[in-house]
Amino acid sequence: MHHDRQNDLEKSFSSFAPGYWADEGVSEEDWNNPTWQLKNRITSLAGLEKHLVLSEEERNGVILSGTKLAMAITPHFFNLIDREDPECPIRRQIIPRVEETFISPYEMSDPCGEDSSMPVPGLVHRYPDRVLFLVTDRCAAYCRYCTRSRVVSGAGEQDLETDYEAAFRYLEEHTEIRDVLLSGGDPLLFSDSKLEKILSRLREIKHIEFLRIGSRVPIFLPQRITPELCEMLQKYHPLFMSVHVNHPRELTLEVKEGLERLANNGIPLGNQAVFLRGVNDDLDTMKTLVHKLLMCRVRPYYLYQLDLIQGSSHLQAPVAKGIEIIEGLRGHTTGYAVPQYVIDAPGGGGKVPINPDYVLQKNDERVVIRNFEGKTYEYPEPAVQPDPILDY
Ligand SMILES: *Cc1c(COP(=O)(O)O)cnc(C)c1O
Repeated sequence: MHHDRQNDLEKSFSSFAPGYWADEGVSEEDWNNPTWQLKNRITSLAGLEKHLVLSEEERNGVILSGTKLAMAITPHFFNLIDREDPECPIRRQIIPRVEETFISPYEMSDPCGEDSSMPVPGLVHRYPDRVLFLVTDRCAAYCRYCTRSRVVSGAGEQDLETDYEAAFRYLEEHTEIRDVLLSGGDPLLFSDSKLEKILSRLREIKHIEFLRIGSRVPIFLPQRITPELCEMLQKYHPLFMSVHVNHPRELTLEVKEGLERLANNGIPLGNQAVFLRGVNDDLDTMKTLVHKLLMCRVRPYYLYQLDLIQGSSHLQAPVAKGIEIIEGLRGHTTGYAVPQYVIDAPGGGGKVPINPDYVLQKNDERVVIRNFEGKTYEYPEPAVQPDPILDY
């Protein structure tokens, strides 16, 4: 019974507000104000313990987080935590644990080798025709498994130090770049006018065809997705947005409304989920997630194997399990709902697609394939055509 109810809750689009803030007399106006949400983020042990009983692992994790990746949780997102459930999938993403200080031999501070592909501070040019532009080091809240924890939040070992003018100059000179991805940190933490300055400057560069923003603000801080923001963004089309949702509970009523507002302004939405142990490493959860995403008009884009970031081993799930989940989706549900599973190759190889094997055999004459139900089929390769000039 409890399990069914929990299931229904995960599948529905509920509001969790004011939740833990019910006794504090917060007005609806404050709650819906993004500035109030940011000012009232939980950033301290005392703030956390006001609402939750922490485990020893969490307590020590919070104390140690100040030297690594800061803790910050918006009231909106904090409300998704189920305080009755010590294994809560929201809690695992956002509350530090002491395991973050355990470093395994394969783990790195820059697991995707970004720093070595930066021609200009803050601009990662890894692929031939597109760049990743790290415009800020701040987020609305901090994911404990952040691949950029070395530069994000201000607590870690490095500073981001993006050189905007040098970046714009590089983009102007490199006419092969047709796609700019704004990320960080989270670009949607900038004010509308600051963000617009960047977008309009990029639009002055004629060879840049395509813009996109990577952001978890629609999830952490849906109050920020105002009609004014959407109105501004739609001037810079084609502009896509990649959001980051890992668990179905994150898709609340407020988040759905924000995503719809973006979609109504013509912004195609994709999701980049991270495969996390104890969060979304089972087929049922992932299926609910991708179905809810489609209902919010978000196309699941990538499912990332967790980068080998230092202190992440407690969140690592096996690749074999990820493949099994993709296999459980492909053919069994809407094709639009199936993300591409990728490993961002350790050390800087870029994203590599990881797929279940559907080709059982392949030679010059034929391929033997299997379908989602495991039935095998043969497809003959076209016969080699004689060359009309050489073979006369
Ligand atoms: C992920 C990423 C991109 C964008 O890759 P797509 O596959 O086009 O989404 C671009 N640059 C870097 C460095 C990236 O990590």
